[in-house]
Amino acid sequence: MRFLIRWMLMLSLLTSQAVVAATSSIENVRAWLAPDNIRLVFDLSSPVSHNVFMLDNPLRLVLDIEQSALGVDVDRLGLEKGPIKSVRTGKRGDGVRLVLDLDEDVSPKSFQLDPNDQYGHRLVLDLALARSATVEKAQEPQPISQGPLRDIVVAVDAGHGGEDPGALGPDRLREKDVVLAIAKEVARLIDAEPGYRAELIRSGDYYVSLRGRTLKARKLNADLFVSIHADAARDKRARGASVWVLSGRGASSEMGRWLAQRENGADLIGGVGSVSLEDKDDLLASVLLDMSMTASQSSSREVAKRVHSNIAGFARMHKPYVEQAGFVVLKSPDIPSILVETGFISNPSEAAKLRQRGYQKQMARAVYEGIKAHFWERPPAMTHVAAKKRTGAVLAGADRTYKVVPGDTLSVIAVRNGVSLDELRRANQLNGDRIRVGQVLRIPAS
Ligand SMILES: [Zn+2]
Repeated sequence: MRFLIRWMLMLSLLTSQAVVAATSSIENVRAWLAPDNIRLVFDLSSPVSHNVFMLDNPLRLVLDIEQSALGVDVDRLGLEKGPIKSVRTGKRGDGVRLVLDLDEDVSPKSFQLDPNDQYGHRLVLDLALARSATVEKAQEPQPISQGPLRDIVVAVDAGHGGEDPGALGPDRLREKDVVLAIAKEVARLIDAEPGYRAELIRSGDYYVSLRGRTLKARKLNADLFVSIHADAARDKRARGASVWVLSGRGASSEMGRWLAQRENGADLIGGVGSVSLEDKDDLLASVLLDMSMTASQSSSREVAKRVHSNIAGFARMHKPYVEQAGFVVLKSPDIPSILVETGFISNPSEAAKLRQRGYQKQMARAVYEGIKAHFWERPPAMTHVAAKKRTGAVLAGADRTYKVVPGDTLSVIAVRNGVSLDELRRANQLNGDRIRVGQVLRIPAS
């Protein structure tokens, strides 16, 4: 009897060791659908060997994961999104075979990720949709100096997304959701403003790479790139919103990268009239790049200051000034770019605010007003806003002007001139009620 127990114990030890060493368990699969790709993420108990290939008639993708076992019911995961019609699974040797039936051609790419503080070992399968390639080809750079008036294009970037939740707050509050809500509201406000068009860099819960974000903004010929984030810190007391522009150091290293890479592609620098750097010698290319980068950075700082002071009107700020860092998404040499950290999601009281729809809207409005005020001050050439500003000056006969004297307040001026406070603010692109002596205000005719 004792012998039998010992024997059974040994046998079970042997088999369990064999299982641990040889088999990775597929514990979960998540699917994230983006406009131009679908990403599947497999949570694994250990790294695996795998193989991906496509088959025709019917169109399908086969993923073989060697020495693995399914630890989850794939049918219940709702992976049938985008081009994926159905998912079948089966055993193949000592591993698992997954077959995705597709109704559209894709080009698959796969890679594995090491554990981080949120996830363990992962296998990522990216399926680029074939249709996105044709869309990209159709996009031609826009003529800068001729043609009809155009809208000012603002690229609104909600940070993180999909597999990357960003910062995490109390009660499962996730940065990726908060910033998407705020970004959508910024875009809505911009789209409602004549002469402006907003483009969301991501419009749903999926991930876009950092370089992919700036690339998309360049393809859209964006006049401004605004990235929305929320902070986190180990110290739960850390708090305050902040506004960031690219640091000088980040800018010069990026210029080096552009110069080094310019032979590789016909990259255009929009800020100095869509010139290609490809056929320029080193010196000329670096001068052009420098001009473009300098102009973008000065605009970035101006927008950032306005947004910073608008947010400071209702929220606690992390620093009383615009901050600088080498964030990758701020590195476009020809698109003014800012990054807004809307507060610390790791701070319980700021998280509670960031969760509220009203607060999100207030934050969005502060960003939007800053953008609008900046472009009214410096409208890009050949835009509706530039034309409106010019004709506005010509037609000023219809409106009146008033010079602020000591003791004036905006509301008194509004009442005296029979206009609403809101109309007066709008006519003068004011965000708050602050006015200064000597300031000339436009009194709208209506
Ligand atoms: Zn973030």
